[in-house]
Amino acid sequence: MAALKLCVVAGTRPETIKVAPILWELVRRGIPHVFVHTGQHYSHALREQAFHDLRLAPPHVSLSIGGIPVGHQLAQMTPALRAVLARERPSAVIVQGDTNSALAGALAASAEGIPLAHVEAGLRSFDNAMVEELNRIVADSISDFLFAPTEVSRANLLAEGHDPVRITVTGNTCVDALGVTLPLARSQSTIHARLGLAPRGYTLATLHRPELVDQEERLRAVIEGLTRLGASGRQIVFPVHPRTLNNVRRFGLEPAFRSIPRLVATEPLGYLDFLVLQADAALIVSDSGGIQEESCVLGVPCVTVRENTERTESVDVGASVLVGHSAQAICDAATALSARRAPWISPYGDGRAAVRILDTLCAAELPRRAQR
Ligand code: UDP
Repeated sequence: MAALKLCVVAGTRPETIKVAPILWELVRRGIPHVFVHTGQHYSHALREQAFHDLRLAPPHVSLSIGGIPVGHQLAQMTPALRAVLARERPSAVIVQGDTNSALAGALAASAEGIPLAHVEAGLRSFDNAMVEELNRIVADSISDFLFAPTEVSRANLLAEGHDPVRITVTGNTCVDALGVTLPLARSQSTIHARLGLAPRGYTLATLHRPELVDQEERLRAVIEGLTRLGASGRQIVFPVHPRTLNNVRRFGLEPAFRSIPRLVATEPLGYLDFLVLQADAALIVSDSGGIQEESCVLGVPCVTVRENTERTESVDVGASVLVGHSAQAICDAATALSARRAPWISPYGDGRAAVRILDTLCAAELPRRAQR
């Protein structure tokens, strides 16, 4: 029987962060593997910085498919990934989350007849206008192994008729990554001193989702909300995603953005700096998926600038409030949440998700299946 060999596909900063614990565990167990990066995120800040902060070796294969229109990504990534899989013949392919890279990896594995494992399976916003929702549904529907982070995601999969035998509740690998990295970040990061911040003395903001930042009125309203928060005396630290910066400029919103009182705008930050900033924030305002989870784990309340979420667990435990895109709702939620720090228990697991994922794959006699 051929030895077990796994392929891990990622392409964006959040995927790199969430597959890192799986890559660490593969190394720890001495399991041969191929880490493929599609290049969907290609700037240094969103790519190499994450490898560096997570102590990851560079990917074995870099496809460099970045900087092309979103609608073309799948068409370019899928055949490129098929070629890698045809060459490497892994026993299984692991994809994570809901990006075009994850879907391309899933389609490529499926087309090559290689067992597919989906990490972060079963998340649902029930909003089919989100391309990520469609990516999740398709990836789940063709996966052999559904690694659901929580009981909520498991229930979503069962409600869609997925075979319970394929589902394993693992916890979210972001907890594994955070647990290992936060102590390191605390000892190495100088971000508070560099930005002149006092722990608990600031609100941390991030925005990057197309449904917000590509829409002028929504982006304007959220900048107005941050302006009111700043005017009420809150210091606002805002690492600005490249997409957001482009759109702030494209819509002529830069003067309004730069006028947010007490704003500290930065480039996208490395994971170490960002983790420390999150852990010590008084409040978070964000449209990010991963930050809804991390802030909940870290005990910091999150004003979630979205109409809906696939991270309903954070809302259910009271760590996050959905406010849509209204300036007033942002301010109201900020006031309500500031009084609410961490009486909740995180639903995202115990930091051993990667161990469970690899235990399951190792027990599945994969090499035999791959040779069929
Ligand atoms: N993050 C980071 N630097 C930043 C902003 C975010 O390292 O300046 C990390 C954050 O800790 C989380 C992930 O990036 O792990 C979230 O990524 P993002 O918000 O871009 O994507 P999403 O989670 O919405 O897919």
